[in-house]
Amino acid sequence: MSSDIALQNILDEFTEIAMIPRPSHHEEKIAAYLCGWAERHGLPCVQDELGNVIMDKPASPGCERAPKVILQAHMDMVCVAAAGVSYDPLKDPIKVINDGTTLTAEGTSLGADDGIGIALILYLLSDCGVSHGPLRAIFTVNEEDGMTSGAIDPKYLDAAYLINLDWEWLGSLCNSSAGCDFMAFSRKFERCPAMEDGAVLRIELGGLLGGHSGVDIHRGRANALTCMARLLLGLSENHIAYQLLDFRGGQARNAIPASAGASVLIKREQLPEARKLMGDYGDALQAYFGEIETGLKFRWETAETCAEDAVPDEAAAALLRLLLVLPNGVHTMSPYVAGLVESSQNLGLLETGPGYFRLSAMERSCSAYRAEELLSISRLLAETYGFVYEAGEHSPAWEVNPKSRLTPLACEVYQELTGDRMVVEPVHGGLECGAFFEKNPNMDMIAIGPSLLHVHTPKETCDLHSVRVTAELIAGILERIGGQE
Ligand SMILES: [Zn+2]
Repeated sequence: MSSDIALQNILDEFTEIAMIPRPSHHEEKIAAYLCGWAERHGLPCVQDELGNVIMDKPASPGCERAPKVILQAHMDMVCVAAAGVSYDPLKDPIKVINDGTTLTAEGTSLGADDGIGIALILYLLSDCGVSHGPLRAIFTVNEEDGMTSGAIDPKYLDAAYLINLDWEWLGSLCNSSAGCDFMAFSRKFERCPAMEDGAVLRIELGGLLGGHSGVDIHRGRANALTCMARLLLGLSENHIAYQLLDFRGGQARNAIPASAGASVLIKREQLPEARKLMGDYGDALQAYFGEIETGLKFRWETAETCAEDAVPDEAAAALLRLLLVLPNGVHTMSPYVAGLVESSQNLGLLETGPGYFRLSAMERSCSAYRAEELLSISRLLAETYGFVYEAGEHSPAWEVNPKSRLTPLACEVYQELTGDRMVVEPVHGGLECGAFFEKNPNMDMIAIGPSLLHVHTPKETCDLHSVRVTAELIAGILERIGGQE
């Protein structure tokens, strides 16, 4: 098949997929579409109790004794729209724009993460002229919001090799991913009477870059929650008498908090001194983060409201101390892979209710040893400061396989195709491969994929040339493995 026709077939598949609304937790329609596709192509297909779709394709004649290869992509997508665009992720199709070089969507995320992976797999399962050994396709549910697909029955993972198509850069191959644990720290309190004759001061820190708690954790970005905690603690240390009224911030457990806000009730006569300290702190933030956090906004204002009750001092002090001493950011660098973050923690989301604080966080680590360390430190500190520690979801790490045959094979095929060397890199983010590794550590896995930019945003872009090369790359890998016995 010519590479133009191949690309057109892949894009036709992608266009069909883009028509189907498929936010995380709502994969029924795309799953039904894929089951129908398998039926039309005469391929056995099952849907497991989690909703994952599993298809098998027998080997090409002469390749029956070759080891089995699994091709895998996730069915759900992150559905976001640009400001002012009306978009119902449960109902509306994605309007794909193809300008001949790239794919984008009209006002929304494109869903090439991971729809282009599905399209590539469907193309390879259709009769595209590639000879291969026994093939299995696994299309998973809910990768983007908790990786529930990881609970898949190990009986579906009885293959020698797995190629995950949830990687976002052609020319790079991922061979390991971090595991993670979510956790939360909560503390209840009864609000106490507010001091009389206090002024309410609202403090806002925003405009920060935030970002992914894995792949952006080493970039030196400010965490709005810890910055705010440090300011508030600084006020107490400088003998400013205040009561905490409210403190919240962050967007999600797995995102670096880009903003935080706090309200305090402060003795009126100490207002000038407090303003001076905040000014100094703002200068210090600017001096340290200014080069990176170019949009940093730190401001405060006295509000014309009065407060009736406040967080008791003891609870407020405990929260601020906990925020400052909990590990946050890079914990350790890998001693084996230069430049790779080995373990990290992100204090992501702080909620303050009428009588409670709840801080949600996550740790990531490619070593079980460091993961345990971070969890113990966090548990101990929760205890020390009177917080209840809750252990959340766990996703396992995918460890580097030094004996991998698939990695050098993929690099070889890539170099033959393009003349370029493939970059092999572990990632400090999570991939579904972690769960597969836990279930079948003998399966030799890689993650590859075409080049995507701005995923999870309305600017998501997919490079068409890289789709073409990825198809040829996988075809080449399958043909080589098809020749193995
Ligand atoms: Zn993805």
